[in-house]
Amino acid sequence: MSGSVLLPGAIGLNGDGQPTTLGVMGGGQLGRMFVQAAQIMGYFTVVLDPDVISPAGLVSHHHIQTDYLDPQGLVQLMQRCAAITTEFENVPAGALVTLGAARPTAPSADAVAIAQDRIQEKAHLARSGVPVAPYAVIESAADLAAVADDLLPGILKTARLGYDGKGQVRVGTRAELAAAWKALKGVPCVLEKMLPLAAECSVIVARGWNGECVHFAPQRNLHRQGILAVTQAYEENMPLALSQQAVEAAKNIANELHYVGVLCVEFFVLTEGSPERASLGALVVNEMAPRPHNSGHYTLDACDLSQFDLQVRTLAGLPLVQPRQHSAAVMLNLLGDLWVNGVTPRWNAVLALPGVHLHLYGKLQANKGRKMGHLTVTAASAAQANATALQAASLLGVEAF
Ligand code: ATP
Ligand code: MG
Repeated sequence: MSGSVLLPGAIGLNGDGQPTTLGVMGGGQLGRMFVQAAQIMGYFTVVLDPDVISPAGLVSHHHIQTDYLDPQGLVQLMQRCAAITTEFENVPAGALVTLGAARPTAPSADAVAIAQDRIQEKAHLARSGVPVAPYAVIESAADLAAVADDLLPGILKTARLGYDGKGQVRVGTRAELAAAWKALKGVPCVLEKMLPLAAECSVIVARGWNGECVHFAPQRNLHRQGILAVTQAYEENMPLALSQQAVEAAKNIANELHYVGVLCVEFFVLTEGSPERASLGALVVNEMAPRPHNSGHYTLDACDLSQFDLQVRTLAGLPLVQPRQHSAAVMLNLLGDLWVNGVTPRWNAVLALPGVHLHLYGKLQANKGRKMGHLTVTAASAAQANATALQAASLLGVEAF
């Protein structure tokens, strides 16, 4: 169902005097920041999430606490909401089919289903105009035996339900590959060739119901143990030609999918030249996320419209305006590791630095590798943003970048 314009605060769908309400499937931090952006504009919000306490459920007007496929939960969501979005890609596509039949739902079940499955996703990404990493699909023992030697060393990735490096095993030999596939219980996987990465970046686009598309400039991302650690967002972060190529590829992918909403496309930049004189080489498309993305959190503090503002606007059919970044920014992820042994991170010292914006997601338990919050440093120059972010990292015990 395509979208009509849903003005905030307007009389409800049934003329019942209810405020216009937007819904989100999933209660994580991305849902929380969507809810906050929607509420600032005067919308009421509903979160559907099975957890009693969730980052988004805690700040939403309503929280429907059911499973994503619970028919009654979905009916309640449809009754309350004028339009519905999603905040993480593992929401079952079937739930989005049900919702999409009754309410404008963006992104669509089709787009999410593709992003949920690395095998389908690769086929789509390959049409972006930028290559994907060489890979093989492994669904059977015969597929395993047929893997070309050239794909090793590689990374075996489950086709479904992976995130933050989960469901991935690095393999050097055929024996390791066989053992890894067995350890992953023989589920459908892709084996990707391990590529020499000089850098990683991502592009966030927002595409409306009418096909209009706006974007943020590429963010440069540093991952550690498969988890995003640092994002640097400023003009000089990437050579211009690579930036332009990445933006074009991301827009191609969104258009190809007739995508509506916020989409993030992640890229690798390969190493070129000898190890001593390595430089940024060719662009390879890694994967897409059918939602706002961790690498776009800096947009809350460094841009005149954030990725969540654009999620609200695309969903509600409001005008899309090209966002403008007004400050250089560096974002540090705050993982549960920082709360080791129950010690509270040194917020006081960090907040004494200029241009620091602390975002904590209201999570009550700090586990290793769990995203608890992030910190964005904004500054007038890239050099200043990096210098302050390095000071903050040092105060927090985050590895320097
Ligand atoms: P996300 O949280 O972004 O969804 P994910 O679990 O889906 O992560 P990927 O993006 O596939 O994982 O991989 C995580 C990281 O592992 C990448 O950002 C990159 O640093 C590294 N990586 C993945 N695939 C490759 C590859 N083929 N060659 C080299 N490094 C890789
Ligand atoms: Mg990734």
